[in-house]
Amino acid sequence: MGGRRVTGYLVGHRERPPVSSIKDLHEILDAEPLLDAHLLELTRWAAEYYLCPWGEVIRTALPPGIDSLTCQVARVTSAGAAAMDGEGFLRPGERELLAFLRVRGEAPLPALTRRWRRARAMAHSLARRGLVDLQAEVRPPRIRPLTIPQCILAPGVSPETAPLSPRAMKQRAILRALAGAPAGLPKGEAAAGNPTALAVLIRRGLVQMREVEVTRDPFAHPQGLAPSESPRELTAAQAEAVALVQTALSERRFLPVLLHGVTGSGKTEVYLQAIENALGQGRQALVLVPEIALTPLTVRRFLARFGGKVAVLHSGLRGGERYDAWRRIRRGEADIVVGARSAVFAPLPRLGILVVDEEHDPSYKQEEGPRYHGRDVAIMRAKLLQVPVILGSATPSLESFERAQTGRYRLVRLPQRIEERPLPRVDVVDLRRVEGGDRLLSPPLVAALEACLGRGEQALLFLNRRGFSTLLLCEECGAAAGCPRCSVSLTYHAGRGRLRCHTCDFERRAPDRCPECQGSRLRYLGFGTQQLEVAVRERFPRVRVARMDRDAAHNWQAAARILEGLEGGSIDILVGTQMIGKGHNVPNVTLVGVVSADMALHLPDFRAGERAFALLTQVVGRAGRGERPGLAVIQTYNPEHYILRAVQAQDYAALWEAESPLRREHGLPPFARAVLAVLSSPEAGAVEQAAVEFARLLREAGIRREAMSGPAPAPLYRVRGRHRWHLLARGRDGGTLHVRIHEAMRRLQKSAVARGVRVDLDVDPGSLC
Ligand code: ADP
Ligand code: ZN
Repeated sequence: MGGRRVTGYLVGHRERPPVSSIKDLHEILDAEPLLDAHLLELTRWAAEYYLCPWGEVIRTALPPGIDSLTCQVARVTSAGAAAMDGEGFLRPGERELLAFLRVRGEAPLPALTRRWRRARAMAHSLARRGLVDLQAEVRPPRIRPLTIPQCILAPGVSPETAPLSPRAMKQRAILRALAGAPAGLPKGEAAAGNPTALAVLIRRGLVQMREVEVTRDPFAHPQGLAPSESPRELTAAQAEAVALVQTALSERRFLPVLLHGVTGSGKTEVYLQAIENALGQGRQALVLVPEIALTPLTVRRFLARFGGKVAVLHSGLRGGERYDAWRRIRRGEADIVVGARSAVFAPLPRLGILVVDEEHDPSYKQEEGPRYHGRDVAIMRAKLLQVPVILGSATPSLESFERAQTGRYRLVRLPQRIEERPLPRVDVVDLRRVEGGDRLLSPPLVAALEACLGRGEQALLFLNRRGFSTLLLCEECGAAAGCPRCSVSLTYHAGRGRLRCHTCDFERRAPDRCPECQGSRLRYLGFGTQQLEVAVRERFPRVRVARMDRDAAHNWQAAARILEGLEGGSIDILVGTQMIGKGHNVPNVTLVGVVSADMALHLPDFRAGERAFALLTQVVGRAGRGERPGLAVIQTYNPEHYILRAVQAQDYAALWEAESPLRREHGLPPFARAVLAVLSSPEAGAVEQAAVEFARLLREAGIRREAMSGPAPAPLYRVRGRHRWHLLARGRDGGTLHVRIHEAMRRLQKSAVARGVRVDLDVDPGSLC
């Protein structure tokens, strides 16, 4: 391609090329196809639907790191070698780089840039002067199967008849052990403390060493894998759902089922039994969950019911582990795959049922690259395969609910908790009537905490902002510490005494004086989880308090440890962000406090109400999962807000009745399709011009003015130094809308106005912020 060698995906073949001059393929890198016909079709659909290149979706569908990459490789030329020996001018850095290359023979540019910041520029300059040769080459994939040397019995050798001296007891024992392990044993294990005896056997050719592929799988602990949970007798509503799915499966029919049931109503049991039926028919299952680290309970229940048939794909897997799991799945060795969003592309060869748990969860939407929605891809996958798909939620997305209302999905309700355990009572505290100093922990919340702890029970405190304080303000000049690259204020993180941008991770030391006026009266305003934790410790000095947010639980192991502490009873009060609201189930948690509901209620986004309802319902639902009844206390300045009333009454119908007329009136999802265009550039003027031009092209392509919002500066105007403009286009028919946008996009890219401006299209945007 233009003199370079690049890797691509081969997706088909034509008898006759569509253009006159074509180039030869240099090399085919894979011995067998990466994706089967079904996954090719699915990725192609996703590319067309999400208005992004097919290759990008294919890359998303494959485990990261397996695609070979092209990069430039540098070598010293003979002129370069001569220059080093003194015949020509070299800068000091260049001399070092040439010396390195001479020792190594050659090196890929990325490896050089890791050593010298300016390596790329230096290498190009040296290449121009003929001292270095730069070639684009295909590098082998970073990730390969892991093999380890194993000892195996040489062919034809038997432990009983092998020609050993009768006194060589140890050698014979080794042969016996190997006879019992046809797949071989690692050296240490085979030797069993007698490396000399093993060495003799190898030298005599009775034992051979062979490279054997092993699977890297952190969930492969044998003791955790034996099935240990048995199916329950289903309630009538559960049985109805399982039967529907069973029929669709036997009739090989596409059937989306929306399973709407409050937390604890038995949805997971439905998934488990529907999957068991599918397995009984020789089919396989794919289960999507929002975030593996935060839903250990769900994962454990799948492992407990199905043991080693389950492959878990989670973000904590290292590259090699993920690759191994993917290959195990592709070979048909895992009958059930449980994973987050990207697992929707898992290459199960006999897929017969899909499950999307917590189908409303925003984490199913990918926010960069191909902006696909895991749930919607799962639905399309079920449709292409003609199999059933179950969408489960206590708070369905309005999209899914609308489709159930109009009959496109089958709706099954599980109206009650199992054993008729009551839902938690929800008390709302009006913060307008609370003294200033008590607004973090109001007297009613403190009383509830005291009562809960007094009974030896546990509590969760929810606050959706991490850090210590969210705004540093100078009281002398009024300046606020903001991110130099984004239009947001910096959050103060206590422990390390630093200010941090939660949008781009920019960080700096917290100043002693105002950088604007040198004033010394700095004030920290707005509280986050760190400050809440401190306040809770002060108020309850002898109580065991822990915190769970992106800072305290920086990886999945840390998150799992905190949840284990809660389950094991070593934490009395857990403070945290929405991380504490997902699918765990601790019977001794009887109180949930929502420290501030107002942020969630007032986001500048048409989904704000729906999101707040789902989030608060989920958090509130963590209380009283066991024998004892639960209580939730919500603190707010808007006690009359319709969302809070709906949460209080646990009334999804109230949410639907309040939200749907507004959405219908404004032509917003679920009553129309929407595509958000985000234009961005470091130049404020350029991006504005391009946005105006794009709007004009959209109108020319047939989208009416009333079906567009914007162009306007995005609510989050600056991110990482780029100025951003938004334009939302809506239409009744997704297909027509996409074609029109595609057309306008093609013309915009040709126009001079768009030079240097990036345009990201977000189909079915999850949020407008
Ligand atoms: P959800 O997924 O809706 O939160 P679960 O399936 O986890 O609900 O069920 C909640 C609890 O009730 C679990 O402990 C589960 O084992 C139990 N359970 C589910 N279905 C039944 C049933 N039909 N009979 C008895 N117990 C059940
Ligand atoms: Zn920033």
